[in-house]
Amino acid sequence: MCIFCEIIKGNIPSKKVYEDDEILAILDISQTTKGHTLVMPKNHYENFLEMPENEFEHLMGKVQEIAKQVTKNLEANGCNILINTNAVAGQSVMHTHVHIIPRYDENDTITLSFKENEFDLDQILEQIKGRN
Ligand code: 5GP
Ligand code: ZN
Repeated sequence: MCIFCEIIKGNIPSKKVYEDDEILAILDISQTTKGHTLVMPKNHYENFLEMPENEFEHLMGKVQEIAKQVTKNLEANGCNILINTNAVAGQSVMHTHVHIIPRYDENDTITLSFKENEFDLDQILEQIKGRN
């Protein structure tokens, strides 16, 4: 059973922020910050890499609209847009979804830290482009 498919079908209650034929946006039960919202396709895809391009484009267009609405009406100063992809990246519900996390100030209960590493950038580029 997929918990988000059950929410989409209406079998599990949710607080709906937006809905159309293709997507559903709901308040995240954890509310990492006030207004933490999840936007998901109604079709079940384990992660966004599996989505057809047109469905992903629609999803992300709506993510922008909803992020504008949420940040403006909740008077947030910014937001983080996050797609955790696969368990290694922290995905816990295997029905792809986009987090909209409004940001208010430095006391927000979320930490994103990018530590530096020494990698050979040219070698990485070659590998990404499939040239080695
Ligand atoms: P992930 O870690 O997969 O990127 O995020 C899953 C998110 O789904 C978590 O932030 C979690 O709080 C939220 N979540 C899990 N179960 C439910 C639920 O039943 N209802 C709602 N609204 N959110 C849920
Ligand atoms: Zn699902």
